[in-house]
Amino acid sequence: MDLERYIRDIPDFPKPGVIFKDITPLLNDNGAYNYTLQQLISLVSNEQIDKVIGVESRGLFFGMLMAQELNAGFVPVRKPNKLPFTTISQSYDLEYGSDAVEIHADAIEKGDRVLIHDDVLATGGTAGAVCTLVEKLGGEIVQCNFLMELTFLKGREKLNGHPTASLLQY
Ligand code: IMP
Repeated sequence: MDLERYIRDIPDFPKPGVIFKDITPLLNDNGAYNYTLQQLISLVSNEQIDKVIGVESRGLFFGMLMAQELNAGFVPVRKPNKLPFTTISQSYDLEYGSDAVEIHADAIEKGDRVLIHDDVLATGGTAGAVCTLVEKLGGEIVQCNFLMELTFLKGREKLNGHPTASLLQY
């Protein structure tokens, strides 16, 4: 199946100069998202996964589905001040300024084998910060897993050497 047919480019969203990869047509089609899920799962080796992390916001969709498929727990990582319980936070640099991601302090147990999923790996700032959160809680990162990777931005280099896989490369 040609998944790229289900991902549309939106020029100048959310700001001028950015070409946004919109996955809503993929989510809209039952056959396409099931196929995508199976392909994402095939990137993961046969190892035991205890927790799948989905990164807000578009990483939550396939993150939850992957957790169910891998018989793992699901953990949301969210933007600041969205999670209700005690959190730990990690900031990262943007082109102008900085942003942060948060996780519940009890979401990962020491030694948990963790898979991190997001829709897009761009500069790697977001996923790199998520890796740091998992490491702080004592989790073991089995894979950083993405639907799409913008390879020219070299995001992999920010992922602290953890195994990284993506379904589509641009
Ligand atoms: P990074 O931190 O620069 O790697 O950006 C990755 C984050 O930004 C992910 O959470 C993505 O969901 C989001 N993102 C970056 N570029 C795009 C895009 O073209 N389409 C959709 N999301 C994007």
